[in-house]
Amino acid sequence: MKYNPDIIKSKRKTVSIEVRPDGKLTVRAPERMSYREIEAFVNSKSEWIERALERNKSMQGEALTPYTQEEIEKFTSLAKAIIPQRVAYYANMLGVTYNKVSIKHPKTRWGSCSSKGNLNFSCLLTQMPLEILDSVVVHELCHRKQMNHSKQFYAEILRIMPDYFAREKWLKENGKKYSGRLP
Ligand SMILES: [Zn+2]
Repeated sequence: MKYNPDIIKSKRKTVSIEVRPDGKLTVRAPERMSYREIEAFVNSKSEWIERALERNKSMQGEALTPYTQEEIEKFTSLAKAIIPQRVAYYANMLGVTYNKVSIKHPKTRWGSCSSKGNLNFSCLLTQMPLEILDSVVVHELCHRKQMNHSKQFYAEILRIMPDYFAREKWLKENGKKYSGRLP
């Protein structure tokens, strides 16, 4: 079949096609629909599929333009100016201490906190809304109270940042647009 879609059959009554962010297709179809029928349906939608694939490609092209070394240096000096202040502010609010604050540019983490209280943050946080940067700062500082991701840990966060989960969700949905551009 053209496009070689993943076919998921279920008790649903209608067929749907989804172009996933990875450029592959998922077709959801009723259990009794035959392979031939699904193929005919996919073919009848080829114009729509082509357009969706094009849109997908241009979005990814934009997201994946790598940052230059110069840009990363700029983000890093910006981070060194902003993040220690935010850390000091929230540490005081939470009543916790910490050691060194370092700025890095890892591909998969936004922040970390060692058992000695050394904090690392990604310079890419400076390219996001301040409330997102703050949510990572608060997350890492709360590890000074709980070195885990237990209920108590999140309770500490929510005490001073009631909308933390909305911010975390934003980061999960949008973070790759930033980290995906690291060379
Ligand atoms: Zn954590």
